[in-house]
Amino acid sequence: MQVSNSTSQANEHKFRGKLIVLTGPSGVGKGTLVQILLQRHPEIYLSISATTRSPRPGETSGEHYYFVSRTDFEKMISDHYLLEWAEFAGNYYGTPRLPVEQQIAEGKTVLLEVELDGANQIYTSCPDALRIFILPPSFSALEQRLRDRATDSSSAISSRLKRAQIEIASAGDFDVQITNDDLETALHQLESVILP
Ligand code: ADP
Ligand code: 5GP
Repeated sequence: MQVSNSTSQANEHKFRGKLIVLTGPSGVGKGTLVQILLQRHPEIYLSISATTRSPRPGETSGEHYYFVSRTDFEKMISDHYLLEWAEFAGNYYGTPRLPVEQQIAEGKTVLLEVELDGANQIYTSCPDALRIFILPPSFSALEQRLRDRATDSSSAISSRLKRAQIEIASAGDFDVQITNDDLETALHQLESVILP
């Protein structure tokens, strides 16, 4: 479904679970959208993932991610500490289970920002989760955003773009698709499906 701001479409999702899964190719603007969404709606709980990726400048452990070693991550997997996990562009990423379950139990809206494999795992374990896919206005715009962001090496950008083609092909499997062309428009669309 291509989202609009109409009341009927917003109501269609009103009674869905409180778990929101946000997915989209690297560089599409998920982090940007989430950051502004949380500033405007601090009652939403954003899950902080664990990853084996190195921190980018300005990223701190416990705020953006929990940055851990591969050994520690593999222990998290074997200890069933993660709600879902996946390997993406050569690194592990996963969602710590306990905080998500606690926040849901407290009645909070919980937001997960995960790649495609993780979103599919959540669909299996939590079928009531609302799954939202963020699309770029075009593939070339996506590539430009990744290059302009200048946080990844050119080989990392290549592997992210390769993966992006597969992810974008799955967008239709999600409950909602939002194109992040104009940022404010995309934010309004996101708010219209997430907020009660
Ligand atoms: P993601 O979290 O999906 O990997 P980011 O939020 O880091 O993506 O955004 C990638 C780059 O695109 C950033 O430099 C960001 O400022 C830029 N960006 C995000 N949304 C838009 C938009 N609507 N129009 C133009 N640039 C955008
Ligand atoms: P980045 O390295 O750009 O921060 O993230 C790379 C990809 O990993 C993004 O698509 C992001 O949504 C995804 N990601 C971040 N955290 C998790 C997680 O906990 N689980 C999964 N499966 N993917 C994640």
